[in-house]
Amino acid sequence: MATLPPTIGILALQGDFREHITSLESIGVETREVRHPQHLNKLDGLVIPGGESTTISRLLIAYHLYEPIRKLGQSDFPIWGTCAGAILLANHSPALDRPTLELIPMTIERNGFGRQINSFETNISAPRLGSDPYRAIFIRAPRIRSIDSNVKIIGTLNNEPVAVQYGTLFATTFHPELTNDLRIHQFFIDQCVQTTISLQKRKNLEAMS
Ligand code: GLN
Repeated sequence: MATLPPTIGILALQGDFREHITSLESIGVETREVRHPQHLNKLDGLVIPGGESTTISRLLIAYHLYEPIRKLGQSDFPIWGTCAGAILLANHSPALDRPTLELIPMTIERNGFGRQINSFETNISAPRLGSDPYRAIFIRAPRIRSIDSNVKIIGTLNNEPVAVQYGTLFATTFHPELTNDLRIHQFFIDQCVQTTISLQKRKNLEAMS
């Protein structure tokens, strides 16, 4: 059974996983680096960080993590992908020559805003985070080109989705782990992890009655 504080795994094969660990620990969450399937045991959620989606995809298979993470994602387990992580969660990423995890029904284009030189920082619209503007960092960011109607839009930039939620799955095309604004990390914990904890509590109560 999940306990508070939640324990969140951070996929630590490549990319900026350390920054996610720092952000999550500063909001009181326990973290664990995930490199092997056994590291997925008894987690309350998983973060797939930014990095290189081609590399992470290859390593997911090499480290036997592809199938177990895909299965978790198909069974109400909270997973949040940032940037390259968002690419890996999408059903389709046409320019990726390797498989994604195919968990969120959306099409996402790698480097959709341009190359490294086109990286930028800007305020996005995300009403669920409160009234203060949220400044988002986009680094060779992917661009969400289409989403199914049942994918919820959490944040937009010029009316394009940049943060989306699909059940317990969450994807942001920017990098919340590179700012001191921890509202998106808190959102993931509140929206996804707490949901799972209450689902588990309900299951336990049902089992006892
Ligand atoms: N462009 C990278 C990719 O396609 C993602 C960049 C990032 O995660 N900052 O994997």
